[in-house]
Amino acid sequence: MPGDGIGPEVADAGVAVMQRIADSFGHRFRFSNQLIGGAAIDTRGDPLPPDTIASCRESDAVLLGAVGGPKWSDPNAQIRPEQGLLKIRAELGVFANLRPVRVIDELAAASPLKAELLKNVDLMVVRELTGGIYFGEKKRTPDFASDLCVYQTFEVERIVRVAARLAVARSGKLCSVDKANVLETSRLWRDVTIRTMANEFPNVALEHMLVDAAAMHLLARPRDFDVIVTENMFGDILTDEASMLAGSLGMLPSASLGDSKRGLYEPIHGSAPDIAGRGIANPCGTIASTALLLRHSLGLEEEAALIEKALLDVIAAGARTADIARGNDTVLTTSEMTNAILAQLE
Ligand code: NAD
Repeated sequence: MPGDGIGPEVADAGVAVMQRIADSFGHRFRFSNQLIGGAAIDTRGDPLPPDTIASCRESDAVLLGAVGGPKWSDPNAQIRPEQGLLKIRAELGVFANLRPVRVIDELAAASPLKAELLKNVDLMVVRELTGGIYFGEKKRTPDFASDLCVYQTFEVERIVRVAARLAVARSGKLCSVDKANVLETSRLWRDVTIRTMANEFPNVALEHMLVDAAAMHLLARPRDFDVIVTENMFGDILTDEASMLAGSLGMLPSASLGDSKRGLYEPIHGSAPDIAGRGIANPCGTIASTALLLRHSLGLEEEAALIEKALLDVIAAGARTADIARGNDTVLTTSEMTNAILAQLE
């Protein structure tokens, strides 16, 4: 689903990389191109037409560019591109949002943090995506407002399992972030996490951290984190904070997973209307998302690792799109960066 703005530009890059992987490894991927967001509103009057949903359900994985833009951003509009995004997440039942943040040494200068803090940063934030305060009952009178935060045991168990499996495959450490000194939902979160980990993942080292402390430690000592699991709103905030470690929004991928292997994969950035149509968007976040797609939905670990390595290699060799270029760097277009990664894959 290419979507809007730079969405189609970066989605094309992702498809080109997957196609190259297919050719090289003798796989056959069948692609189906579907409308979402503003593009779907313009042609169908619906940000997520039924045939898009049907096609996603029939697919093993879904790759999304981005949705939205000024054309559809009237705050009073009844139909908005973002509705398509929320709806497809719900339709696919994806409750776990994975955001890996790996700092590439050569890009440390692009981050507002000191380079020495960023060396070897490689962490994964696992955010609960379908519960908590964003989905609880909302009330409003002129002088009163409330948002209900609700979590149930099964919601905590399933997200903790996703995070724990990732921790097993990584360094065997899991950090659960909550606010158990104040919030009842956090106390449930902590109890369920302790029980689930003790019963099912006794060999994973579990640490608990209050969200305010986590926000500080993420900047002060990001290298010490590996897998972080947290509830919806804390994860929303911490993942945006963590993205700054890597310097540019354009670099970072995400995966949203549910109970089945099918997942939704997208770069973390939006449709970037300010640069759309100029062919200068950074395709790396989308290309890294295709690596996550191959790993988590198709079980193609070797191919996924190859894409990640090709990406690191071209950045290390100095390839830069405008958002990550500094000083005298030669600036590549979206297709030049994509071609550099394709050539490195070869
Ligand atoms: P944005 O992420 O689109 O852009 C923020 C800044 O980062 C812009 O200056 C943009 O040029 C730059 N940027 C983003 N991606 C880049 C890339 N790949 N290469 C180079 N530079 C890049 O956020 P925004 O401007 O706040 O939002 C624009 C639109 O995107 C809005 O309509 C918003 O609702 C939507 N949005 C969609 C998603 C999504 O589809 N998942 C996520 C966030 C925002």
